[in-house]
Amino acid sequence: TPDSLLADTTTTATCGYCATGCGLRLHLRDGQAVGLTPETNYPVNMGMACPKGWEALRVLDSEHRATHPLVRDPSGELVTTDWKEALQKFCDGFRKVQQNHGPESVAFLSTGQIACEEMAFLGALAKFGMGMRHGDGNTRQCMATAVTAYKESFGFDAPPFTYADFEQSDCLVFVGANPCIGHPIMWERVLRNPNQPDIIVLDPRRTETANAATQHLQLRPKCDLKVLYAITNVLIAEGFVDHEFVNAHTSGYDDLVRCVRDFSVESVAEESGLEAERIREAARTIGRSSAVSLWWTMGVNQSYEGVRTAQAIINIALLTGNIGRPGTGPNSITGQCNAMGSRLWSNTTNLLGHRKFECEQDRMDVADILGIDVGRLPTEGSWAYDRIIDGIRNGEIRGLWVIATNPAHSWIQRNELRELLGQLDFFVVQDMYRNTDTVAHADLVLPAAGWGEKDGTFINSERRYGRIKKVKRAPGLALADFQIFRAIAHAWGCGDMFRGWTDPESVFQIMKRLSAGRPCDITGIEGFDQLDQCGGIQWPWSTEDSQRGAPDQERRLFADGAFCTDDGRAKLIVDQVSPAPETPCDDYPFWLLTGRGSVSQWHTQTRTDKSPVLRKLYPNQPYIEINPSDAARLMITNGGLVSVRSRRGEVTVRSAVTTSVAAGQLFMPMHYEEANVLTLSHFDPHSRQPSYKDCAVDLEPLKD
Ligand code: SF4
Repeated sequence: TPDSLLADTTTTATCGYCATGCGLRLHLRDGQAVGLTPETNYPVNMGMACPKGWEALRVLDSEHRATHPLVRDPSGELVTTDWKEALQKFCDGFRKVQQNHGPESVAFLSTGQIACEEMAFLGALAKFGMGMRHGDGNTRQCMATAVTAYKESFGFDAPPFTYADFEQSDCLVFVGANPCIGHPIMWERVLRNPNQPDIIVLDPRRTETANAATQHLQLRPKCDLKVLYAITNVLIAEGFVDHEFVNAHTSGYDDLVRCVRDFSVESVAEESGLEAERIREAARTIGRSSAVSLWWTMGVNQSYEGVRTAQAIINIALLTGNIGRPGTGPNSITGQCNAMGSRLWSNTTNLLGHRKFECEQDRMDVADILGIDVGRLPTEGSWAYDRIIDGIRNGEIRGLWVIATNPAHSWIQRNELRELLGQLDFFVVQDMYRNTDTVAHADLVLPAAGWGEKDGTFINSERRYGRIKKVKRAPGLALADFQIFRAIAHAWGCGDMFRGWTDPESVFQIMKRLSAGRPCDITGIEGFDQLDQCGGIQWPWSTEDSQRGAPDQERRLFADGAFCTDDGRAKLIVDQVSPAPETPCDDYPFWLLTGRGSVSQWHTQTRTDKSPVLRKLYPNQPYIEINPSDAARLMITNGGLVSVRSRRGEVTVRSAVTTSVAAGQLFMPMHYEEANVLTLSHFDPHSRQPSYKDCAVDLEPLKD
């Protein structure tokens, strides 16, 4: 880029948007980034980047950055203050709540957007230093389902794949996933696959990925679990089961056979809107292929029965022996840049390093490594996100600290959440920007440095630790989240507990000790420099691994068939299929689907709307996709105003008439705050992940 020509040196860092974890080469002049290009030598993206990555630096220069701490004055205005007063207010505010209502009356809501070392610091500070028990991440909204599914099936939250699998399969199955839009560089790797693979897509929408598929099963919403069971039924009936693998490495086969017997292709076909032969053809394609990889994202995770659906995918991989070999695996693609770090290091529902708060030995191990009194560790994990919101509703939670996330836009049924935030006794938001929907409700705003302005590590979807780096000065008084946590620890009076937590690399060394002997062991990674030299390293990488040589870049799990369960076998888990909590009816005759709308948009747009380039790549006004037949029937014109109504609320948006949605269905991108006015508060019972993809709505045309 022209700016890059001014540079006097370069360095490489992992992108700060999605969990693909592309390497970006940052061009520096006098130590400050002046441009970037995709890193050609990074094993993830090999010289490619999507528009968000290309624009990663520009969004740091926004006029909407939070440059100073802000405190709400008696007139209700947020006014500038300094760090000394901000820290005093932080401590006084939360102490007062805790004194009046108990230490557990304060909770935090964190993110998949900050570095591993910052997550570990936040979790340890909040729980061991400040006495909180409850804290969860916005990762609950995107991949809690995959975590629970893997934990139950494999005994550990262990996505088994490596990105090379995209290029090595002869059959790829995408369930509720649209990588063309959501993970475009992963999709580029599919396009590099030399095997002319079969690509099977299960999705109610004719997405960009579905358009490229060899088989698109355009099933009706919320029929995915039944269709997956019907596919399993065919695999068993037609002799595609790898009995040698199943007998040696799994448990639960007989229960699975009994369960899927009820899901014949014919019985599932009618309800799902698919022809029986299409389901059978998909099953046979999977059965006949020698390297099948099955990939899922939010269409599965954000469902009221997401865990069992994810496990139906896992079951298919296990039954057919498609795991631990090149081109295989039941593979959950993660959303945020460090959602995988949150899984291991947020210290929320799991104790640091995926231990259990409830386990005395785990608590003693962590206390010993951290050199703190074991009595400071809670003996139970946190409430999940929805239970914390319930706690605000019923007065159990009176103080809340939100870090790098925007629940006033993103939480399901957000109108109610906005009201609840107003009920808090004390509400602190720590963020890069001062204009988010959530900051609007805060009593105190702590200005944070963003990606590119701080150091640490992210973990991408294929379990790769990669570096992020400080290549720009943060504006004004904004500080790295790491520094904010350190300052709070000292102001709170628990700074001694974190004496050794001087910088991100020192915490990385602590994380190494916390990982020792666990499936996520990283004791073999020397430090940040080695991550730089190797282009990141996938976990696990133990001391023993490192003694055998340098890490290769394509490591997958369970090649030996040894899983992390007590008996070493993967569990085949099946269940009853439950009805959808809300379905179309006379008053609300359409299914509303929500999801990612554009390769250039990211979540609630807090960052992407700061880039003029990215803003040009998607409509500024919210829109809803509608099938041409429904549009004609309701006399809705393309681009016309429509009112969309659910039992929760009503919004006005533009129509986009398109065959990408089926008749009777609508699609609205989640990036617009209107979407979660309509969505339904319903959760997967096992993972507590919200079910964003199924609610009933009505719509009618409006006059412009
Ligand atoms: Fe960044 Fe994801 Fe785009 Fe790669 S695909 S450049 S990680 S946003």
